[in-house]
Amino acid sequence: MKAQEALRLLLLEDSADDAALLQRQFAGYARRVVSAVESTRDGYLAALEQDWDVIVADCMLPQFGVAEALTLLQRSGRDCPFIAVSGAVGEEAAVALMRGGAADCISKANLARLGPAVDSALQARDNRRARHAAEQALERMAFYDEVSGLPNQRYFSRELSRWVDAGGAGAAHLMCVGVERLPAIAATLGRQSVDGIVREVAARLQRLLPCGALLSYSGCGDFVAVFRSHATADHAAAEVQSLMRRLAVPYEIRQREIFINPVAGICAIDNADEPIDDLLRRAMAAQGQARERGESMAFFDHQVEQAMLRRLSISQRLRGALQRQDFSLRYQPKVNLATGRICGMEALLRWNDKELGAVPPDQFIALAEESGGIVDVGAWVIREVCRQLRRWRDADLPLLRVAVNVSVRQLRDPLFATTVRQALHDAQLPAAALELELTESDIMTDTETAIALLADLRALGVIITVDDFGTGYSSLSYLKRLPISTLKIDRSFIVDMVDDADSRAIVEAVVALAHSLRLTVVAEGVEEQAHLTFLRDIDCDEAQGYLFSRPLPVEGIAPLLAALAAVDDAYAVPEAEFGIESV
Ligand code: C2E
Ligand code: MG
Ligand code: MG
Repeated sequence: MKAQEALRLLLLEDSADDAALLQRQFAGYARRVVSAVESTRDGYLAALEQDWDVIVADCMLPQFGVAEALTLLQRSGRDCPFIAVSGAVGEEAAVALMRGGAADCISKANLARLGPAVDSALQARDNRRARHAAEQALERMAFYDEVSGLPNQRYFSRELSRWVDAGGAGAAHLMCVGVERLPAIAATLGRQSVDGIVREVAARLQRLLPCGALLSYSGCGDFVAVFRSHATADHAAAEVQSLMRRLAVPYEIRQREIFINPVAGICAIDNADEPIDDLLRRAMAAQGQARERGESMAFFDHQVEQAMLRRLSISQRLRGALQRQDFSLRYQPKVNLATGRICGMEALLRWNDKELGAVPPDQFIALAEESGGIVDVGAWVIREVCRQLRRWRDADLPLLRVAVNVSVRQLRDPLFATTVRQALHDAQLPAAALELELTESDIMTDTETAIALLADLRALGVIITVDDFGTGYSSLSYLKRLPISTLKIDRSFIVDMVDDADSRAIVEAVVALAHSLRLTVVAEGVEEQAHLTFLRDIDCDEAQGYLFSRPLPVEGIAPLLAALAAVDDAYAVPEAEFGIESV
């Protein structure tokens, strides 16, 4: 028999003599044998609370059967070899016991076999344990993240439906939490600090999440958790908000205080069958929304998702729109309030997509600005307006100035001034036939660039207008320095003017301010006679709005120009005065 440290032996035996006999069998087996003898079911159950190396059970116990003893052992979850010993064990009973999980079945007449049987049973147990440990190590490698010590995305996906199925009280939620700017932190403080942050955030999340939550780490500072909350939706939001506040409390990593900026997106899990990808997508959409709003968390909302999907398809379709020639222009007349005649127009971009239908500028301009596509689209607008002005001129219609909207992104394009010059030159137009409208907020985001570039264009003779005036935060000192000719009062003030004394006061003040700076002032969004009356009273120079005309296609503008020509063409751009080049 093999010498062992100490063998813990549990005997199930009712006969004291037989127990002594068995114990003697083990005397030389190990240096020390710790044994206990039990003969009742209760005693056995109590003994199973402890760890044993081997259980040797008599098959003929008067109180309960050996098969039951084996089952009780298996139910206890312990992996302990079980050897049955019998005075006269039949072959069949022995086979049944071994099939049921017994390591061996030995006749009392042949106890010499006990030692080798225990040896091989212990060997088999050790093999099982080693395999189990290897499996666990593999599982850790496959399903756990080394840095955070948390389950990874793969484990999370596998466990999620089980977790949802397991139910429990409270509404289930899935939450994505991202630690923003980790790559930037890694670049300044090093990889180890980032690992430290991830570990600390993981630990804090584990403490802060409700009991029973399942938390995982997907890498790159992104955590995903599912949890149940008993609170109403509003309270749940407040709970998450407080969690996020506590998560943002600075961390001490490698003797440094580190501030992080965690952002969470949460969605409700309505049923256990929802694909994890859908849930993750929703939580991530909410997270993106929170990020956009500069907030620490947002709950998913279907409308927001619809809006995001639409934005995504708009951006996709926008890419080929110029090549597909899906853009067109509408022209909206501007009226001189002193004479009541058309004095200019604003070109407004229209996009008609085969799949999306007509998409209003409010929905696509910002996306084109984000992607940079506005540079090419904007250049097309300028060229198309110049070409159209040439066509009208060639048809002997008065040459009215047309305003084009320009985004700040276009101003940053080094070729912008060239595009404008070239378009004017190609259509053989005086520079004063073109007006550029820039929103107040656009000019204020990059004032110095705007001033330099606009001064060049102004010197050429191009008219520069501040659009949507009153909505941004222009400082008066900048306004004085800007090479502009016109202020266009934002529509919102005009709409409110009739009922709201403050809006009236603002409009009046802007008109006075513009005049004192020798600027022309235009009111946009004039829809009612009352607007017009008031604007006339305060000496506003020009107005544009549905009261006069909606933005019209080219065909709608020609008759208006013809009518104007019939009266006189005093409002046309005087070509001579602007020194039209080699017409
Ligand atoms: P915006 O430059 O302030 O243009 C005025 C907007 O008000 C136009 O909307 C016009 O159709 C609308 N409008 C005119 N009169 C009235 C009125 O009496 N009542 C109301 N409720 N609305 C009126 P639109 O065409 O949808 O354009 C929206 C915005 O999109 C424009 O605002 C402009 O910022 C931008 N946009 C349009 N075309 C272009 C373009 O070619 N390039 C750039 N960068 N932006 C453009
Ligand atoms: Mg405009
Ligand atoms: Mg405007």
